[in-house]
This record gives sequence, C-alpha cells and structure tokens, in this order.
Amino acid sequence: MTQAIATEKTPTKPTFSKLVSKDGGIEYEAKALYVCEETFSPLEVAYDYDVIRAQVSRESIEAGPNSIWRYRPFLPVATDNVIDVGTGMTPLVKSQRLARRLGLKNLYIKNDAVNMPTLSFKDRVVSVALSRARELGFTTVSCASTGNLANSTAAIAAHAGLDCCVFIPSDLEAGKVLGTLIYNPTVMAVKGNYDQVNRLCSEVANSYGWGFVNINLRPYYSEGSKTLGFEVAEQLGWKLPDHIVAPIASGSLYTKIYKGFQEFIKVGLVEDKPVRFSGAQAEGCSPVAQAFKAGRDFITPVKPNTIAKSIAIGNPADGMYAVEQAQKTGGTIESATDAEIVEGIKLLAETEGIFTETAGGTTIAVLKKLVEAGKIDPDETTVVYITGNGLKTQEAVQGCIGEPLTIDAKLDSFERAWERAQTLERLDWQPVLV
Ligand SMILES: *Cc1c(COP(=O)(O)O)cnc(C)c1O
Repeated sequence: MTQAIATEKTPTKPTFSKLVSKDGGIEYEAKALYVCEETFSPLEVAYDYDVIRAQVSRESIEAGPNSIWRYRPFLPVATDNVIDVGTGMTPLVKSQRLARRLGLKNLYIKNDAVNMPTLSFKDRVVSVALSRARELGFTTVSCASTGNLANSTAAIAAHAGLDCCVFIPSDLEAGKVLGTLIYNPTVMAVKGNYDQVNRLCSEVANSYGWGFVNINLRPYYSEGSKTLGFEVAEQLGWKLPDHIVAPIASGSLYTKIYKGFQEFIKVGLVEDKPVRFSGAQAEGCSPVAQAFKAGRDFITPVKPNTIAKSIAIGNPADGMYAVEQAQKTGGTIESATDAEIVEGIKLLAETEGIFTETAGGTTIAVLKKLVEAGKIDPDETTVVYITGNGLKTQEAVQGCIGEPLTIDAKLDSFERAWERAQTLERLDWQPVLV
C-alpha cells in the first residue's frame, strides 16, 4: 500500500504561467504573442524559479531522457506531452589537434553538426516551439528561415503530424532546399533576402492563424537555445566554462546560452563565475559586429552578401542585446571574410574530423582571430559552438578541396597514382606546434 503511494507519479507543477515584456516587465498570458503592445519590446517567458528549484537536481537531470527534455522544467511547455525526436545531448569534444594548432590548452567543441533530426542547432528551438504550438492548439506551423530552420520545422512537423508551410529566400543552397522538401511541406521560395522573407511572414502570421516558430511563437522558440548552455555546463561536470565563442544571426542563440548559464546558477546547479561571451559574424553581414566595434548603442541594418547564408540576417531582432552581452561579459564580436570562412571549415575538418557548414566556418575563423589577437587565454576553458552540418552547404567548399584520383581497377594503376599523390602538395597550412 505504502509502496503504491510512493511510486505514484506526483503531478508536476508548471514552472511558468506568463509572458513578460523584456524591457517593461508588463505581463501577458502565455499565448502566441511576441511583442509588448506598450513598449514594443520582445516578450519572454517568465518562470517561477522556486518551483524549478524544487523540481530539479543534478541527479534528476542525469536520470532524464538523453535529449533536451532532461531540462523540461526550464522549458516553456505545460505538460509531459512533448515532441521528443532525440534532439540535443550532442557531443562536447575536447579538442586535441585544433587546440594544439591554435596554441590553446582547454578548447572544447560543442558539436551540433550532428544534432537530431536535421543536423543543426535549430532542432532545439523547433522541438520546443512545436511542442508549445501543439499545446496552444495550432494545427499548421510555419517559419521564416535562412535554411536550417525550414529543415527542422518541416521534419519535426512531419513527425508530429502537423501541417507545415515554410518560407525561405529563393537563393538558398541546394542541400538546404532538398533537406526541407523531402518532408513534403509547402515551401515558399521568396524572391528576396531573409529580412524580406521575415517581413512577409509577419503579415501572414497576423491573418492566417498559423504558428510561426520564430514570429508569434518566438518567446517559446528562443528558450530552446538555453539547452546549448545547460548541456555544456552538465558535460563539463556541472561547471561553467571561462569563455564561449558562438555565431550570431538574430542574436537569439548567443543571448540564450547566457540565460541558460544564469538559470543554472539561480537554482544552484552550478557555481557562479564570470564567463566571457564572444560572437562571430560573416563580414558580408555583420551589423552586430559593426555596432560592437563602433561602440554604438543601436544596430544599423545591412544588406547581406556572404556565403554564410544561415547567419545572414541584416536586421537582427536581438542584435542590441548581443552587443550589450559582449560588453558586459568582457567578450568580443568579430567578423570573418568568405575566404576565411572556407578556411575555417577546412581547418575544423582537417584537425577534428568535423564537417561544419558556413556558420561553423565563421565561428572557427573568428576563434582563430581572437587567439591571434591575444583575446583568448591559452589556459582558459573555451567552448566553441558548431551549429550546423557541412553536407548542407557543399557549394561553399567546392573547388577549394582536393579531388579523387581516378584509377583503373589494377594494382599498377593504384601504385602509379599513389606515387603521384606523394608529390602533391596536400594542404596549404604549416603546422604550428607549441
Ligand atoms: C540560425 C543559425 C544560427 C544563428 O541563430 P540566431 O539564434 O538567429 O543567432 C547559427 N548557426 C546556424 C547553423 C543557424 O542555422
């Protein structure tokens, strides 16, 4: 009898109930709302941290699912009925060869190039947004995407049986387009850049009653990025790193990693310590890096022109919050040229066996620049976030890598080719050993 009571599941109290305006603290119902009608600031999910503290411990999290849902009390869903497609808990790799090349002793790579199901960090935000969309009663979901978000939304909507219509710029890489179409959503390829796609979607969201993961569901969507902070803290043995380097498009992921660390401190899962936040942008679309460098307190929108299409947002929603975060944590926001981005992709592949897309190439290129400028201490624990997979942006490296040696199926043909291969200059880098 007592046993039956002991094993009975205690209903878990919801850990959030409201949305609140980021600047003014004005409260709203936790529905599909995203902007404060009075201050025009974005809305954020407001949690009850006492309730969270009572529900979580290191042990309870470690005993949870091997996905982002092990952190469910920190995520804005009201019930256990979440969409769990195995998103999250991607490897945190202690770098050996890249670290040595750069002269760093404690470099870690958070590898979301192998995130499930669509091989980018966007699966985190979409898993959360669609779980909440279902709770709010949406039957059609949508997004304004630079590529990866459309892949995630289409895949996870297919899994959950939701109708899906996604919007992308019409000039995306073939892998990103195919990686959406395969799930059979409706795909709108808009003749224009991401910022134009986004504006169109805001109009559609107002009149069609759809759940746009990054527009009217944005307060829920953006919370998914906190799991990039949670996982790193847990994987470092319940410790925060000293310095992180992450890509910036809208600035959402960069600012939510910070929020994730702060929440773990608030509920006592990790000890408080300073963490520096550095950000990476492509030079051809670097409004946040430009504002940071000029010490401006506003973002000047730009027209994107870069191979790093997944992070090409000219008018970033969370841009100013990202600048403030870099300033207050003692980080830097730096940019990389398209040529440096390609070198970054190759460097990570050749040293660590990780093939990332252009966003990851940008982040590695910026990491290298920060090291060269003395902005990363060789001893500090540095985590670099790799957010997407290189098989989706093959165009970026075509013509910049080697070619197969075509031979006959005969031993002497192989031997001649092998001899020739020894004389080819294989790589254009010089090993730097420390
Ligand atoms: C969307 C995206 C980002 C940046 O996301 P924001 O949260 O908008 O800053 C970074 N990397 C990849 C691969 C992405 O698809």
